[in-house]
Amino acid sequence: MSNFDITIIGSGPGGYVAAIRCAQLGMKTAIIEKYNTLGGTCLNVGCIPSKALLDSSEHYHNATHNFEEHGIDVENVAANITQMVKRKNDVVSQTCDGVKFLMDKNKIEVFTGLGSIIDKNSVKVAHQDGKETIIQTKNILLSTGSKPNFFPGMEPDKKRILTSTELLNMTEIPKKMIVIGGGVIGLELGSVFGRLGTQIEVVEFAKTIVPTMDKTMVKELTKVLKKGGFKFHLQHKVQNVKNTGKGVKLTALNKKNEEITLEADYCLVAVGRKPYTEGLGLENIGLSTNNKGQIEVNDNLQTSIPTIFAIGDVIKGPMLAHKAEEEGVFVAEFLAGQKPHINYNLIPGVVYTWPEVASVGKTEDELISEGKEVKIGVFPIKALGRARASMDIAGTIKVIADKDTDEVLGVHMIAPRAADLIMEAVTAMEYRASAEDMARICHPHPTYSEGVKEAALAATENRALHI
Ligand code: FAD
Ligand code: NAD
Repeated sequence: MSNFDITIIGSGPGGYVAAIRCAQLGMKTAIIEKYNTLGGTCLNVGCIPSKALLDSSEHYHNATHNFEEHGIDVENVAANITQMVKRKNDVVSQTCDGVKFLMDKNKIEVFTGLGSIIDKNSVKVAHQDGKETIIQTKNILLSTGSKPNFFPGMEPDKKRILTSTELLNMTEIPKKMIVIGGGVIGLELGSVFGRLGTQIEVVEFAKTIVPTMDKTMVKELTKVLKKGGFKFHLQHKVQNVKNTGKGVKLTALNKKNEEITLEADYCLVAVGRKPYTEGLGLENIGLSTNNKGQIEVNDNLQTSIPTIFAIGDVIKGPMLAHKAEEEGVFVAEFLAGQKPHINYNLIPGVVYTWPEVASVGKTEDELISEGKEVKIGVFPIKALGRARASMDIAGTIKVIADKDTDEVLGVHMIAPRAADLIMEAVTAMEYRASAEDMARICHPHPTYSEGVKEAALAATENRALHI
């Protein structure tokens, strides 16, 4: 029997970051993880492995499509997917080992096994060897994350009908793959295989891909992906998908209610993720989940039992690693008596296609539906000297500001390394900068960041300089 100030169930970016901050603030901290490696979805089967494969496939794409133009002659370029997956596994294991190191460094006690709540001050760990440990604790933090979602008729069999988890370990380059869901996972993992030569056909229920994204970005990204070989079936309702032994067969209804049939070698089901609370014992303390499967929390991330908190994918809000991390820090600082704050409007979102898409704040449609009068500045990436030098000319940057006050309300971009570029906008918006403020900051030349300055200039009296 051990006594802790806080016991954290789940070691994803929410849980492990919370553990570190709690330990920094002097709390005796325990973390429970059911798998043998720490880091959760993000490190093991999410952010990190997907980006490792995205980088490898991007190198291959450049070697086969862009090297010649740059004056580099290479022969017999081949994609070795077994090596790509091996390198990805090495990156994952180094990153997970890094979390273990951080737990040890901060004297956080790690328990491996399924954590379940017995009562509000005790948690059971069921170890793989059948043994159990009971932990006594003042506070509990639930950070159990999420699992892939699917709908009737598209149940993954994990052989030919896959979720992202299986696809990340695939050591075959299929001829053709159907992707159900034109969201972030579908487009990122579709890009990995599309670049390696797989024909990608996306079946999407909504009118556009990534329906939550700003419409200018949707248009540009659709164009870029189509040019890269993606085929889109928008406004299609999947009826069912079957493993035929040698491949998959999918039927869907188009917007005229006509049935279409698609065949491919594999199908990726990427229609969102659902909060994960199985075996957690919420019922033992009278907690339940809402109709989305989420644990309900108040503004302090407390459940209806004030000493039990929940964060990350298992609660409301965007399912993003950095959102989970901010919430982990919030709970630790709240427990330490501090006054933490999270600005949910300024959590940036990224889609790691090439070029990347990144955004912060509100979209044009959201602002218009709120009745805001806005000014919009747009600048094309191809007008930048840096873009021509690197041959990365696709993309655009859009700054949206309040018509009267000039305050920046949203920045959206599709650009090389937009994931990094967006931080200028996040910083500016955190300090409630105006478009004029952003436009007057000196940006290094030649960089993609000059596009942000130019879009901000365009938003302030249409005075972009290089267009
Ligand atoms: P998780 O990371 O899901 O961790 C929860 C942990 O809790 C898991 O390890 C689980 O095993 C454990 N657990 C659950 N129940 C128990 C229990 N009862 N006892 C013990 N342990 C338990 N987000 C980004 O921000 N950027 C990206 O680029 C990105 N890419 C992604 C790519 C893919 C393919 C996927 C699937 C997701 C991606 N995400 C990305 C989303 C990101 O992974 C999640 O938002 C993030 O991992 C959520 O963190 P979390 O701590 O809430 O939960
Ligand atoms: P998503 O919500 O991004 O996209 C799901 C897509 O599937 C949507 O476009 C939706 O309209 C469509 N869809 C839903 N039901 C459908 C149906 N029956 N038929 C056809 N299409 C359907 O979800 P995802 O791509 O599975 O990703 C899950 C989560 O993981 C997301 O919340 C995302 O934030 C996170 N993630 C983030 C990153 C990143 O930050 N770069 C990368 C991967 C995943």
